[in-house]
Amino acid sequence: MHSPAVRSGASDVSAPASRSRRKRVAILGATGSVGSNAIDVCRNLPEEFEIHSLTAVTSWKKLAEQAMEARPRFVALNDHSTRESPSDNLAALRDAILGTGIELVTGPHAMEEIASREDVDAVVAAVVGAAGLAPVIAAAKAGKTIALANKEALVVAGSIVMPTAKKHGATIVPVDSEHSAIFQSLRAGTEKEIRKIILTASGGPFRTWPRSKIENATVAEALAHPNWKMGPKITIDSATMMNKALEIIEAHWLFNLPAERVEVVIHPQSIVHSMIEFVDGSIIAQLGTPDMRTPIQYALTHPNRLQGCSTCLDWSKIREMTFEQPDERFPALQLGYEVIRLGGTSGAVVNAANEVANEMFRAGNIRFGEIVQRVEAVLSRHKQSGFLRDPSLDELLAADGWARKEARHL
Ligand code: MG
Repeated sequence: MHSPAVRSGASDVSAPASRSRRKRVAILGATGSVGSNAIDVCRNLPEEFEIHSLTAVTSWKKLAEQAMEARPRFVALNDHSTRESPSDNLAALRDAILGTGIELVTGPHAMEEIASREDVDAVVAAVVGAAGLAPVIAAAKAGKTIALANKEALVVAGSIVMPTAKKHGATIVPVDSEHSAIFQSLRAGTEKEIRKIILTASGGPFRTWPRSKIENATVAEALAHPNWKMGPKITIDSATMMNKALEIIEAHWLFNLPAERVEVVIHPQSIVHSMIEFVDGSIIAQLGTPDMRTPIQYALTHPNRLQGCSTCLDWSKIREMTFEQPDERFPALQLGYEVIRLGGTSGAVVNAANEVANEMFRAGNIRFGEIVQRVEAVLSRHKQSGFLRDPSLDELLAADGWARKEARHL
């Protein structure tokens, strides 16, 4: 009925929710936007959830503050330093939680260790970028419920992550708002009954700008997202619409759909979070405010719905809902479709080149228009040599490494 690792919950709807004990949640990437919202969701439902662990990449101070409040069993800093020779950040975190009973997990595989611990029920995978891939695979191997915010894990290695999840009985539930909307709308039908899905896109801050002006947009302009409050990497990705390209690929893996059945429509108000058109012509959509706590909570409570802490739509303030077709001012979108058609190492290459170009733009090293050009150029070189149709995880990581170098030195 559904692709094996993704369950809409429609099939489990009659099963009673297990209320015997609280669900223990590991939040990877806790200090980011999704991570902080996930803490909020768990805090709002203390009878349902226990925050088992919190991890961050570098923000030790914020992690320490979150840990002092949430009192998880474990914390980890993914800075690859060890207990024997800790980095300054790790030492500072260790000192900050001294005497609290919170255990510090260290070493290069700390996140993987936490994600696969036996006492974890659900893993919120909210690390940004390809860095979040290893813990997602670890959680999949351990058969966990994975609330997946890290779309890059599927873009880079959907061909590994999805079969691994299936093999080990892990459940991947999307947190990305568009994919959560599709996942929720799937309660109205089955995967076989989908004619196509329609991913909505806000169009970002440059929706109405002419191409020449977009090319030279500043970092501050690109960071001013009209609707969503998110971290800097994804906000820039939204401005280039590379985020939507990554989401097209993510949808392909989550819902087992070919490129031609994934459509994108611009919806500037961000009220409709995405839709499914079923074979009979009915379209089912999920609507709400642009509040990430809604999809995060649903990922953790599905197939049930519980009292939430998200803001609600105020219909007295909604004047209109409009829809437009994306155009050639946003060439990134085509990269999403191309990656689905090419498969193999192409997703790893596009994602890595984009991570580098995105960062170079934020550092002031390249113009806005060069972000997507750089990604296109790296993919084009990869197609000439180095492309593999059926790569192993190591080969995907090698393609990722190659693309990062290439994107930097173009
Ligand atoms: Mg999204």
